[in-house]
Amino acid sequence: MHDFLPKEAAALVQLERTFREVTSRYGFAEVRTPLVEHTELFLRSIGEVTDIVEKEMYTFDDGKKSLTLRPEGTASCVRAYLQHSVHGKESVSKWAYLGPMYRRERPAKGRYRQFFQVGCEVYGDEGPVVDAEVIELAVRFIEALGITGVRVLINSLGGEETRAAYRDALVDYLTPQKDKLSEDSQRRLTLNPLRVLDSKAPQDQEIAAGAPQLSSFLTEEDTAHFKGVQTALSALNVEFEVEYRLVRGLDYYTRTLFEVKGPGDLGNQDTLCGGGRYDRMIEELGGPKTPAIGFAMGVERLLISMGDAQKEKHAKEAALDAFLVVGSELETQAISIASQLRSAGVSVDLDGRGRSFKSQFRRADKSGARHALVFGSDEAEAGVMQVKHLESGKQSQVPISELADALIAAR
Ligand code: AMP
Repeated sequence: MHDFLPKEAAALVQLERTFREVTSRYGFAEVRTPLVEHTELFLRSIGEVTDIVEKEMYTFDDGKKSLTLRPEGTASCVRAYLQHSVHGKESVSKWAYLGPMYRRERPAKGRYRQFFQVGCEVYGDEGPVVDAEVIELAVRFIEALGITGVRVLINSLGGEETRAAYRDALVDYLTPQKDKLSEDSQRRLTLNPLRVLDSKAPQDQEIAAGAPQLSSFLTEEDTAHFKGVQTALSALNVEFEVEYRLVRGLDYYTRTLFEVKGPGDLGNQDTLCGGGRYDRMIEELGGPKTPAIGFAMGVERLLISMGDAQKEKHAKEAALDAFLVVGSELETQAISIASQLRSAGVSVDLDGRGRSFKSQFRRADKSGARHALVFGSDEAEAGVMQVKHLESGKQSQVPISELADALIAAR
């Protein structure tokens, strides 16, 4: 699990702000659900034969019930959607969420046991136009963070009929080669054969390469839906690649599936965003038949891809407007001026330990503040301050009554 010290946290906060801005432009509203849910919810929604449920959940007994720290956000959103009968109140709901998720995975660069996700869900719209809009939103958000060079991969898993037919064909293809598959895949072959295609084991990948293509099993309606997604994506100027081998680890997907891959400094953990349609889940969890689509992105991976220049920019935006450098006899007056400046919306700090001017200047420099405000006895008498721009060294004298406006204008 990872600590965000202030500089990194500033980039995180900026990322969250950008996410809220971009999602609200597309009509999404934020939801907050608890960090824990009944374990059963994840078994039923994510699927029992998945890495998450088999190996990665932090589960505990609270004395009465088995609870689990949420490993992802979709199941919690669907639970809340049903619990509050939102489907009965509005025909289409567009939700955005952000927060920590928990998976007991092997840690690696860009892979943590507590990680943050931002995500979106749309309920009540079967697409295909909304599918493209959701993918576009994901891409525009990543662009807004200054990340370039990403790739969008899309696929369609088809509806229920398609999945069943494909499953049979896949089992027929894999069974004669069963002995050559990894242990995990041998077990999954009967429980969840689609997952074999998603395996990272080299011997499985080799066999998966020759497997029948899911695309040839799509029904006419599935194909029309998938074409619709592609047409809409082109209209939105979102570049994409159709990747028929894209499966993804979660059980619940139907039809549209997509990933956004990062620009390449993430090694194996280069999937910034994963998402897709899950038209059956709401019904399977006891609600009315309701189409749904969503995505989630790993915040830590976005931060790695953003690079230092972007993070510096965000840290600068969050910097103090000014650091006060004060003669020791003027401290009481100085804290009162600082208080007035803060009330006027200016960010100010000062050193109240009675240190020398030199030492206060050192702290001003270190604080990253844009300006130092020098307040000695001459300035106090004249009712002014020396405003020193710390990067350029340029200095000017400003009346105290005009300070707030001058500092805000100088941002
Ligand atoms: P998933 O919920 O598995 O579809 O993952 C969606 C996104 O969350 C991935 O593409 C990653 O960016 C991120 N993610 C998933 N697991 C982790 C993890 N253990 N650490 C950091 N990010 C993760």
